[in-house]
Amino acid sequence: MTVFGMRKTRKATVESNQLEHSRARAGGLRLGIDLGGTKIELIALARDGTELLRRRLATPQGDYEGTLRAIRSLVQQAETELGARGTVGIGTPGALSRATGKLKNSNSVCLNGRPILEDLQNLLERPVRMANDADCFALSEATDGAAAGMAVVFGVILGTGVGGGIVAHGRLLQGPNAIAGEWGHNPLPWPASEELPGRACYCGKRGCIETFLSGPGLALDYTERSGTRLEGPEIVARAAAGEEACEAALRRYEDRLARSLAHVLNLVDPDAVVLGGGLSRCARWYENVPKLWGKYVFSDRVDTRLLPPRHGDSSGVRGAAWLWGR
Ligand SMILES: [Zn+2]
Repeated sequence: MTVFGMRKTRKATVESNQLEHSRARAGGLRLGIDLGGTKIELIALARDGTELLRRRLATPQGDYEGTLRAIRSLVQQAETELGARGTVGIGTPGALSRATGKLKNSNSVCLNGRPILEDLQNLLERPVRMANDADCFALSEATDGAAAGMAVVFGVILGTGVGGGIVAHGRLLQGPNAIAGEWGHNPLPWPASEELPGRACYCGKRGCIETFLSGPGLALDYTERSGTRLEGPEIVARAAAGEEACEAALRRYEDRLARSLAHVLNLVDPDAVVLGGGLSRCARWYENVPKLWGKYVFSDRVDTRLLPPRHGDSSGVRGAAWLWGR
């Protein structure tokens, strides 16, 4: 009798979860949250992608419970203001382990090893979806951004780190290890002798793509050759002004980006690659890199497009909202 009762209860819970999921999908309001190390940002989107409101709070430092409460207060305020209940998607650095349900690799270390998804679902009394920030970027640009309407999209973050996410037919590719698209810690392909053995990476290996293509990687590459220290934006500006050492650094960067993307093209064959992060603002990549990648891609022609982002820095939080679809 007790066993039967338990089964019945479990079945009722499953049905109530399914009901909640279908209610959430049917409703129009999509709430996206970008949970970062310094700020927590919320966006409310209508189904057509119109931004209804945006709010932000400072991330409570080193305070897991405080972080959860801050998210709840943002959601409650938005729903009170808009007079509607929404779906909630969360984008954050790090990845949610499918095996343990806990967050790993987050730079907000107080979140690591905590069952954040389960805790948020209890606190917000609804199902919540979570993905990492590079995945949210890819989803945003594939849903209503630069690659809207394209079938297969690789979204890349070129910033202080290098990340990526893959969207196929409107859906984020999410596997058992929560690492789909994470190409930054693959080795730089077709390395020249002067690129070997490669700089040490924080992940414990050498010569990772991230050590070449991140903003700090570009700056270090220039510094090692020239003996002077310049940051990425200044290297780009000086190259445009005709400074040869800066121009050479950007040429090396372009060839490395072409080689790194060629591996992705051979594996995933995306319709478009969309770049995000600070280095995506450099306009010359979009012209020069597609001229270089043909040499490395295993095809007689390459029709993949390399595109700048449409939503730029807003793509992280917009993609979090789109975790529930349009
Ligand atoms: Zn690495």
